[in-house]
Amino acid sequence: MELIKRTKIVEILKSSVFDQKVNIKGWVRTRRGNKNIAFIALNDGSTINNIQVVVEIEKFGEEFLKTITTGACISVNGLLVESQGQGQTAELQASEIQIYGAADPNTYPLQKKGHSLEFLREIAHLRPRTNTFGAIFRIRHHLSFAIHKYFNELGFFYFHTPIITASDAEGAGSMFQVSTLNAEKPPIDKATGKIDHTKDFFGKPTNLTVSGQLEGELGAMALGGIYTFGPTFRAENSNTPRHLAEFWMIEPEVAFNDVNDNMDLAEDFLKYVINYTLEQCKEDIDFLCKMYDNELTERLDFVLNNKFIRLTYTEGVKILESCGEKFEFPVYWGADLQSEHERYLVERHFKCPIMLTDYPKEIKSFYMKLNDDGKTVRGMDVLFPKIGEIIGGSEREENYDKLIARINELEMSADSLSWYLDTRKFGTAPHAGFGLGFERLVLFITGMANIRDVIPFPRTPNNAEF
Ligand code: ATP
Ligand code: MN
Repeated sequence: MELIKRTKIVEILKSSVFDQKVNIKGWVRTRRGNKNIAFIALNDGSTINNIQVVVEIEKFGEEFLKTITTGACISVNGLLVESQGQGQTAELQASEIQIYGAADPNTYPLQKKGHSLEFLREIAHLRPRTNTFGAIFRIRHHLSFAIHKYFNELGFFYFHTPIITASDAEGAGSMFQVSTLNAEKPPIDKATGKIDHTKDFFGKPTNLTVSGQLEGELGAMALGGIYTFGPTFRAENSNTPRHLAEFWMIEPEVAFNDVNDNMDLAEDFLKYVINYTLEQCKEDIDFLCKMYDNELTERLDFVLNNKFIRLTYTEGVKILESCGEKFEFPVYWGADLQSEHERYLVERHFKCPIMLTDYPKEIKSFYMKLNDDGKTVRGMDVLFPKIGEIIGGSEREENYDKLIARINELEMSADSLSWYLDTRKFGTAPHAGFGLGFERLVLFITGMANIRDVIPFPRTPNNAEF
């Protein structure tokens, strides 16, 4: 076969330089045709669109073409010509074909279109080859890139917080332990009868991080503005469409910001990255809109074009108490709002994204800044249509005495947090930040309903396949 440098299908479909010889490589989506000509729809992942390869059967022989079935990988040299068929700009008239790998039609699972998302989850190793997951994973990429681009343009520094940590953080969620001890026969401390972690790899119990925030604050108190973007692990046994055991979190933390600056940042950030992704991934988003969620583009435009509504937790609870709606979980001042309450406020009452502030201190973490009323803290959650909570954040308590008092009140160990408390001892400053669950944002932008469908290899209770 003549050696020609490969061109990606996305480039070919963009260019209008016809009558030249090119090489494309990709996976066969479908093959149809008649006695004389075969039409092969080829996709290489660079775009949702396939290119049509036109093959004269006489030239290649029927036996050879039989092996080019759905799922097979081929390399084709040919002449790029203007397409006769509708809805396509270019097609390739094959002159040479090399088969890299066949895919036995009797066993290749992605034969027909329209497999259920549940079935595709069971073959997560192959589902990136479908239109749906190709679109989702391209969107995921562009969204990640937009996040780095946004913070970089603002002069924030990407700060790498540890994945293995000995701090039990903030009680954000149950943790996965990290240990090299023999699980069947761990060394026992004779005095206490408990596992002797001094013999463990780090000399003490450690776990996978549930949040990079506490370490992120250390970065902000030196570099001014930082963000993290890394994997986060929570052993929460909640089988919901919005929770993963392994998910990615973005956590900006900014010195000198108060809770209002924090809300401005969250809103500006969300609008920027959604807008960027809409521009970059128009075809993929249109496809998902058509296939799964007809209101998707409308909803995205709505979020871009409307100011998020800001109100306090107390105001929100009042609305919920008097709305006459029957909720599964009771709502009263002091209750932790459930997804049904959040979605009622967003989807039914305001019909707009909202930012709730000033939560009762009892339902929020120890580090949130106490308001003058002594009862509420300067937390801020961003609630989105279809998703509920997408961001949780706050202004942080920068006062050493107040922070220690809260830690003691909650019977947490000040000793193990001494490194965190040092920021309040030495050159403390007001600061604020938030955490965005990356997959919740991908859910929102793709219109998918289940968080297992927006990450390549989801980790959930009883599922660590692939
Ligand atoms: P939820 O009430 O939905 O469980 P949370 O209050 O535990 O959320 P935070 O601890 O504030 O969440 O974490 C910050 C963000 O991380 C959340 O706003 C959400 O977007 C995301 N998040 C939290 N837990 C998960 C999870 N298990 N899977 C995916 N994303 C998550
Ligand atoms: Mn949670």
